[in-house]
Amino acid sequence: MPSKAGKERRKQLLAPLQQEAAAAFEKGLPMSREQFHQLFDHLDEALGAHGCDHTPGWTLRYLAAERVEQSEVVMAWLAEHGGHCDCEILANVEELFE
Ligand SMILES: [Zn+2]
Repeated sequence: MPSKAGKERRKQLLAPLQQEAAAAFEKGLPMSREQFHQLFDHLDEALGAHGCDHTPGWTLRYLAAERVEQSEVVMAWLAEHGGHCDCEILANVEELFE
């Protein structure tokens, strides 16, 4: 666990513009961070075992299995951020959450 003081200092170091961009990013997320992390873990496993067929098939199956609401909004958001298929989602989108 980071100390509260360390967290405060990091906040101060962030330029206001970065803070704004981070806030806008959070606000625009079509599902929770937790759900995204679970999706990335799932894709890691699925692609490790089966590879990518250059469709977002594993992502779609995951969203359906988890009964994620507005999955079409999630898919559009992923494509907008460079994730047009499962491997692109891992390559381009996962890093946005780090
Ligand atoms: Zn792919």
